Amino acid sequence: MILYDEQLIERSQAHIDIEDRAYQFGDGIYEVIRVYHGRPFYMNEHLKRLERSAREIRLQIPYSLEKLNALLVELIQQTGLTEGNIYLQISRGTAPRNHAFPKEARPLVIAYPQPSQRPIQELQQGVSTITTKDIRWLRCDIKSLNLLGAALAKQEAVEQGCKEAIFIRDGWVTEGSSTNIFFVREGKIWTHPANHLILHGITRQIALSLAEKLQIPVQLEAIREEKIFEADECFMTSTTMEICPIVRINGQWIGNGKPGPITRQLQQEFEKLIEQF
Ligand code: PMP
Repeated sequence: MILYDEQLIERSQAHIDIEDRAYQFGDGIYEVIRVYHGRPFYMNEHLKRLERSAREIRLQIPYSLEKLNALLVELIQQTGLTEGNIYLQISRGTAPRNHAFPKEARPLVIAYPQPSQRPIQELQQGVSTITTKDIRWLRCDIKSLNLLGAALAKQEAVEQGCKEAIFIRDGWVTEGSSTNIFFVREGKIWTHPANHLILHGITRQIALSLAEKLQIPVQLEAIREEKIFEADECFMTSTTMEICPIVRINGQWIGNGKPGPITRQLQQEFEKLIEQF
């Protein structure tokens, strides 16, 4: 069962045209929403970000967010998804191929469940990463379907046996290919400010509010590539990876090579959010 436009239908019944603009131009937006115990986690925040992405690319979501919310809840119920993600995307629609926006096309909403367990091993042990050049466009704050820069970077990481690629733009750490990146030094958390060079992650925002609750100071400032190994701890955040320790970058250990105490504290608080939820 999937959501197609405003209906729940069988996946085999869905029809995507060869001139769908998502397919030809990556002209569309998306969200990945985590489901714990059969309930969507921070759904409103995801739908708000979807609305913002839509506005920034001048795409009209074809129906209200309230209706979309209700359809997604119904999708979760009907498919019996308890642990996993909902992948949601909106294409600008189908029209004869032309770069300029079509007048007649109706944006197409699709969503479907992806069952998956929490990445327990990574959350406990931490992950290895590489750094790579940030070759993406200058509107990384829009959650657009143009993911080639991210896909190339992730592939590079995977080929080196790593979980994530950390982007460097002009010598500054921006974010991961599908995560936000944080460093801890002398008890203070550092992460890139939420501007046009990074996606404003929902989990990033959760981690920042947990830091505030724990009275851990935060500096919303990018760090230089050459300062990476001065960090005591490093971690990444995303809907699917939650708050995940990074223990190695380019083959070199961060701190003592183990997940650090501040990362652990934030992870424990995040666990509580899931349990209470
Ligand atoms: N940055 C990028 C480039 C991403 O693709 C993602 C995940 N979609 C994130 C950060 C993390 O965002 P969120 O916490 O909202 O999943």
